[in-house]
Amino acid sequence: MIDKNYINGILKASLNPTTEEIRLIMEKASKRIKLSHIEIAMLLNAHDEKQVHSIYDIAGKLKEEIYGNRVVIFAPLYISNYCVNNCKYCGYRRDNKFARRKLTQDEIKEQAINLEKLGHKRLALEVGEAPVETPIDYVVESIKTIYEHSSIRRINVNIAATTVEEYKMLHDIGIGTYILFQETYDKDAFETNHPKSLKGDYDYHLYAFDRAFEAGIDDVGAGVLFGLADWKFEVLSLIIHNEYLEKKFGVGLHTISVPRLKKAEGMDLKDFPNIINDEDFKRLVTVIRLSVPYVGIILSTRETKEMREELISYGVSQVSAGSKTDVGGYHDEDEEDVAPDQFELSDERSVREVNKDLIEKGFIPSYCTACYRKGRTGDRFMSLAKSGNIGSICEPNALMTLTEYLMDYGDQDLIEKGLKYVFEHSETIRNQKAKEKLKENIYKIIKGERDLFF
Ligand code: SAM
Ligand code: SF4
Repeated sequence: MIDKNYINGILKASLNPTTEEIRLIMEKASKRIKLSHIEIAMLLNAHDEKQVHSIYDIAGKLKEEIYGNRVVIFAPLYISNYCVNNCKYCGYRRDNKFARRKLTQDEIKEQAINLEKLGHKRLALEVGEAPVETPIDYVVESIKTIYEHSSIRRINVNIAATTVEEYKMLHDIGIGTYILFQETYDKDAFETNHPKSLKGDYDYHLYAFDRAFEAGIDDVGAGVLFGLADWKFEVLSLIIHNEYLEKKFGVGLHTISVPRLKKAEGMDLKDFPNIINDEDFKRLVTVIRLSVPYVGIILSTRETKEMREELISYGVSQVSAGSKTDVGGYHDEDEEDVAPDQFELSDERSVREVNKDLIEKGFIPSYCTACYRKGRTGDRFMSLAKSGNIGSICEPNALMTLTEYLMDYGDQDLIEKGLKYVFEHSETIRNQKAKEKLKENIYKIIKGERDLFF
């Protein structure tokens, strides 16, 4: 699937694109016409300031047209830091000596309830790879516990690459997206960063989504840990991976995550020569947006508030908020953290602060999980996205779930500002029927009804 010589050849052949070439590619992208590899490579190689700004502008325009002002909110939940792998970049790797911890089902229930108290409805479950301490049965039981004991409505799962049988178990329990980061598509860098470990098998990792699809999962999310290899190579590889899945299974990636390498215990950022700067990072997010307009882009609290807000305008559609990357991290403020973090964070605002800031900037924090619950996953979700009905379905759903959030978890100030925003924004819904139904539902939610969606 990933041919290093081919990708490097394309990157070389597209150096120094002219302004006219970039203009023509932008014209194509704004009409949502699929870009070729060479065109994507030209966008990655664009150097002139004007060219770069036109890339940002068109990415922002596409984001706005397809997703409106919505931004989906979620939180990661780390349930175990046991890990047999030795990923050179990760604070949880086996060479780091600290008291490992996995949560009991009672503790998981408590964490889910604490996340619910922050207003979350959507989690990304994170587990290190440890077949003995945290076998698949433990993961499945933990998912059951969360669904049964909290109002969390969607659990995306980020566990190590595994077998068809184990993916079937995840599918049967009703996970949201199965997330797995390739970390790096560069085979040499992959092998250097994953020495002597289960995770060290490049092909087994690369073809994990094939096994997931075989098991019936039709909703998968990829990612690259940017900083391990050349970022331009990684972006083209992500696009090729997506095309491969679309061709083979009729449905591509639902999301792409763009984590950037952060300082972690037992590693030094100086040992990673491919760390990427802010400008290149913005470029890669905007080029992904232009290349795969319907794929969600996820940004975590590894990035600063400023970077997150800027990139939401240019292409990011989901952000985590109020995140903890230590096991058992969601607790009262006066309790101490007992486990180490997987890596350092750059945005430590509370969920409420994140939402306030988003609303002030004109975005709609969304807690919508309707597609998952209505079975609109895989190709059915894609047809909704491509049909242009996102505006009359997703936008009202976002506004309804935001109203729910405001009423249940907002303080006085947030409720006032938020409701004003919700009502103003409902007026902009173009579909008259949807607009009326939406307003009716907003009043119902204010009066206490819950869980309304289209
Ligand atoms: N152990 C599973 C795995 O590796 O697939 C679960 C995911 S792990 C808890 C989540 C992700 O965190 C990893 O895939 C990796 O990309 C990312 N990560 C690890 N160390 C990091 C660091 N120092 N900075 C930023 N992200 C990091
Ligand atoms: Fe383990 Fe995942 Fe960290 Fe690698 S990235 S050491 S597999 S937790």
